[in-house]
Amino acid sequence: MDKIKMTTPLVEMDGDEMTRILWDWIKEILIKPYVDLKTEYYDLGLVNRDLTNDQVTIDASNATLKYGVAVKCATITPNQQRVEEYNLKSMYKSPNGTIRAILDGTVFRQPVLVNCVKPLIPTWEKPIVIARHAYGDIYKNSELKVEKGCTAELLVTDANGNQTKKLIYDFTDSDGIIMGMHNKDNSIKSFARCCFNYALDQKLDIWFSAKDTISKIYDHRFKDIFNEIFEAEYKEKFNEAGIEYFYTLIDDAVARVTRSKGGFIWACKNYDGDVMSDMIATAFGSLAMMTSVLVSPNGCYEYEAAHGTVTRHYYKYRNGEETSTNSVATIFAWTGALRKRGELDNLPELMAFADKLEKACIDTIEAGEITKDLLPLFCNDNIKPQVKNSRDFLLAIQKRL
Ligand code: NAP
Ligand code: MG
Repeated sequence: MDKIKMTTPLVEMDGDEMTRILWDWIKEILIKPYVDLKTEYYDLGLVNRDLTNDQVTIDASNATLKYGVAVKCATITPNQQRVEEYNLKSMYKSPNGTIRAILDGTVFRQPVLVNCVKPLIPTWEKPIVIARHAYGDIYKNSELKVEKGCTAELLVTDANGNQTKKLIYDFTDSDGIIMGMHNKDNSIKSFARCCFNYALDQKLDIWFSAKDTISKIYDHRFKDIFNEIFEAEYKEKFNEAGIEYFYTLIDDAVARVTRSKGGFIWACKNYDGDVMSDMIATAFGSLAMMTSVLVSPNGCYEYEAAHGTVTRHYYKYRNGEETSTNSVATIFAWTGALRKRGELDNLPELMAFADKLEKACIDTIEAGEITKDLLPLFCNDNIKPQVKNSRDFLLAIQKRL
């Protein structure tokens, strides 16, 4: 067969540790034999981030804005221990944070479902996609301890020096704590547009939840912005696509999600998204099967696995020991990016290839050829699962592909 041609390059962001090893093998075994792969390569591995003073992360983000589609390997976010391990010049910021800030994007997380791993909620038949607003609220707050006898107030000074005050609490009876937090209309608007665009892209209903009955100004602002943008820009497109948007209270959303069959996007405020994405990931089975895509309000897409660099497996690999690391989420990052590139460049063969590769992954697992993480979750009594090492798992997928 002739290799499938690409016209525009993908932005390829390489990464660290075990996922960097898998990255090369995925390209070698599952992509390059079939696709005339075109990428613009950026090495976001920690060594090169240090060499370039992290400029490579900025360049890769700008390339994503230019080309519209990127695929990213997991990367180390340095802490003090990594600074020593890699002898770093500085404790660089999280690459994902940098990319997200430059793309002004929203992260959507979606599990890969296989029939031999049952969700802990038996009614869930289809994926639940979580969209998390990754800006502001308690993640950019100011907090204080307050002593008994203090009065705490919110104070806002406008550009002309006029001040507005509002009482938080009179601490006459006890010591206590206070917190100030913010969000920006611009950021909420971008979040809303990312959510509506992705719902149209995926042809999925979208729910947005907050607590506007209690937070009558703060959370209510989120609700209003979502409604205004929906009415003005998306209502007709949603009608044409046959999908729905609705707002509901966060506690009602939790109840509805639990009872649902899945198959929708749940847009969450920052903290809710942090908590609920871990709940959804666990309930669907395995972090190793959770994919993630960063979508910008102007329609750029960056695909990746939701998990990290799987450090523990990497140390084993480096010692020459056998590993059985699940590469499914990383493969789905590649298929997501190739399919999107195919869609934008009108290359049906490339889109079909992405579908076939995903099906080959699912078929391999459903046939019982799995990685070690899936063994305790495997629930098909008619098949005796065989645990493959990291590379043989990819070869088993290739056989089916
Ligand atoms: P992690 O790499 O996701 O791994 C945590 C544990 O989850 C692993 O030790 C492994 O459990 C299991 N696991 C995760 N992915 C797996 C896979 N594909 N196959 C099999 N098992 C898998 O999280 P971490 O250990 O907290 O973080 C490691 C590094 O990744 C850190 O430096 C962090 O900064 C970085 N990180 C990057 C991203 C990103 O780039 N998006 C996200 C998160 C973390 P067992 O050891 O029990 O097998
Ligand atoms: Mg979390």
